[in-house]
Amino acid sequence: MTNISLGIIGGGQLGSMLTVAAKKLDIKVIVYCDDKDGPAQNFCDEYICADYNDKGKLEEFIKKNDIITYEFENIPYQTLNEINKHKPVLPKPSVNRIIQHRLAEKDFINKLNIRTTRYALVEKKKDLEPLVDLLPGILKTTTLGYDGKGQYPINSNNEIDNLNIDFSKSYILEKLVKLKKEISVIITRFSAGNYEIYEPIENKHEDQILKYSQIPASVDEKLISQSKEWAILLAEELKYVGTMCVEYFVDRNDNLYVNEIAPRVHNSGHLTINAFNVSQFENHIRAVCKLEKIPLKKLSNAKMINLIGDQILHYRQNSQLKKNEFFFDYLKKEVKKKRKMGHLTTLV
Ligand code: ADP
Ligand code: MG
Repeated sequence: MTNISLGIIGGGQLGSMLTVAAKKLDIKVIVYCDDKDGPAQNFCDEYICADYNDKGKLEEFIKKNDIITYEFENIPYQTLNEINKHKPVLPKPSVNRIIQHRLAEKDFINKLNIRTTRYALVEKKKDLEPLVDLLPGILKTTTLGYDGKGQYPINSNNEIDNLNIDFSKSYILEKLVKLKKEISVIITRFSAGNYEIYEPIENKHEDQILKYSQIPASVDEKLISQSKEWAILLAEELKYVGTMCVEYFVDRNDNLYVNEIAPRVHNSGHLTINAFNVSQFENHIRAVCKLEKIPLKKLSNAKMINLIGDQILHYRQNSQLKKNEFFFDYLKKEVKKKRKMGHLTTLV
């Protein structure tokens, strides 16, 4: 056992995979999660189940750990910031403050002269009227969205009345990009400022939820180098420590746009567990715990399919896998429609 005790906030599938990676490196892991059924409890040394603003439980969690990280970006910034006063939180909480908010995130990206789709803040229905230029578009809540939650496609202004939008929240309207492809780049930046970067991954979404990922992405050299360059620039600018992902759109004219930054390990990188010598999870743990950086090597091309809702049942019942197939069950108690339940990676 190393002497490090790592705290992970969030105990879903990403928290679980981070925990497994940390255990492989002999690190003690304590997970803090507000869900009593969080699957990471199957893998960690200790599981603290409490609300994200439970001061007493957070204090206990802080005391027990040397370093703290988190599985997803929707942990309240205040919680991360408070913890960071006592023990190092990595990636640092200020990263989350920018990226948690779609408007701040897009402003930050554009300031670096990196292209995003056009967008505008929408705080009330009237704000939409002059924005016809951004239609067809997608209205997205500025905070707390994931897997397409909180998103409304809008084709024309007369549709707005039928959408029943809750304007107690704020939104951004994004112009719809005519997509040829979506790709993502995963990068792990270490505290010394050096990094490991994975090749672009090609992604297909269904109902705004990631369904398939594969390497290599079928895009030309220019897009490969541009997407990597931008990911490096973004990670540098954020002084990021850990693994992050940049999601990109490629339009029909092969223009590249940043869709969003995920300040965490990412679903499209699940195939790195089997396709590389070091996975995105292990790299994250190595970076936040200041362990050795190992040069990245690809072992195989790969494709991954997400098992959503009851698609998991077939694999749970029938575990006949081929030698190049790797099935992951997130061990979520309840099978729900549109819920990511597991994935299957195939080395090709
Ligand atoms: P989430 O935070 O839920 O991942 P995203 O903003 O990444 O939300 O949107 C999910 C998916 O919806 C994208 O991967 C893409 O397929 C589609 N999408 C979102 N915004 C746009 C856009 N402006 N143009 C085209 N497609 C989009
Ligand atoms: Mg996304």
